[in-house]
Amino acid sequence: MNMMETAQFAGQEAASLRGELRHDVDMSRHVSWRAGGHVQRLYQPADLDDLAEFLRILPRSEPVIAIGLGSNLLVRNGGLSGTVLLLHGALGELRVEPDGTVYAQAGVPGAKLARFAALHNLRGAEFFAGIPGTVGGMLAMNAGCYGSETWETVERVQVVDRSGELHECIPAEYEIGYRHVERIEEPGSRIKDASRQTPEFFVGVWLRFQAGDGEIARREIKALLGRRMASQPLNLPNAGSVFRNPPGEHAARLIESCGLKGRQIGGARVSEKHANFIVNMGGATAADIENLIKEVQVVVQQQTGISLHPEVRIIGEAA
Ligand SMILES: Cc1cc2nc3c(=O)[nH]c(=O)nc-3n(C[C@H](O)[C@H](O)[C@H](O)COP(=O)(O)OP(=O)(O)OC[C@H]3O[C@@H](n4cnc5c(N)ncnc54)[C@H](O)[C@@H]3O)c2cc1C
Repeated sequence: MNMMETAQFAGQEAASLRGELRHDVDMSRHVSWRAGGHVQRLYQPADLDDLAEFLRILPRSEPVIAIGLGSNLLVRNGGLSGTVLLLHGALGELRVEPDGTVYAQAGVPGAKLARFAALHNLRGAEFFAGIPGTVGGMLAMNAGCYGSETWETVERVQVVDRSGELHECIPAEYEIGYRHVERIEEPGSRIKDASRQTPEFFVGVWLRFQAGDGEIARREIKALLGRRMASQPLNLPNAGSVFRNPPGEHAARLIESCGLKGRQIGGARVSEKHANFIVNMGGATAADIENLIKEVQVVVQQQTGISLHPEVRIIGEAA
């Protein structure tokens, strides 16, 4: 936003918005790696109507992204221009609909969704408990674990576009794959018209689970969390698996086989407990983490011939 747009926007904001707009926000406080740069503006809406209103009046030139719990995200040290929409702690509605689907808004954490489904004697939501992100982030990433993926349970999604209009979409309107979700024009073809590629943000979802025994679901959640505690370095800031698994391979196995466990740059270290995790030992910068990611890629490529591709999203400018 230029100065005039900012002044104009500030006037409108005072008049109609109910959320919180902050400037020059340290994103290390909003990502699970606890590292990284600042963002120019961060808006946490009061609710869905407020988010739509914010997008309606925000100048069209302003770049915008949405985030949830920042558990798959790194902002480079040079920071990010534009506005981040913080949906965690904002869009938190969760209910069972008359047709039996569960409606969850984008800011609901996975663990809350899993427990809610179990409480209503629904099965199939247990795996969400292991993913420390929000519904919005899980939809954007098609997050999954233990053989289940987010979009397998989606009946339809609710999105808001850059002009603040709400729409409902069905899974057939997306290309969905392993940690990949992309809006398509018609089933089978990508959106070709660049003007339609303006961002859309997930704001809610209707999920279909099976009727079952809530007690069994709770036991499964407990077992799943136990397995995660045993295998993941959850005592140190991290962003889960850094690299996507190459076809037929496990990124963790490849990294370990190259002797990279414990490799460290600045405060960032390849975890000894799980080789596909990079942990912040204290004071890691986004550059430390990104440089370590690059080093792992180079070594694995040299020693095995396999290219590793990051699953984590890295955004913003280098310092
Ligand atoms: C300890 C640990 C374990 C993990 N285990 C798993 C696992 O088993 N399986 C797995 O898949 N992932 C795992 N992750 C990664 C992460 O939790 C998931 O990718 C999760 O879906 C990210 O959700 P989030 O709300 O934190 O998204 P963020 O990190 O905030 O955002 C991630 C991306 O999604 C976009 N996004 C976020 N919200 C929206 C929205 N409402 N609309 C549009 N785009 C949006 C962001 O712009 C960004 O590009 C793990 C992470 C950690 C720290």
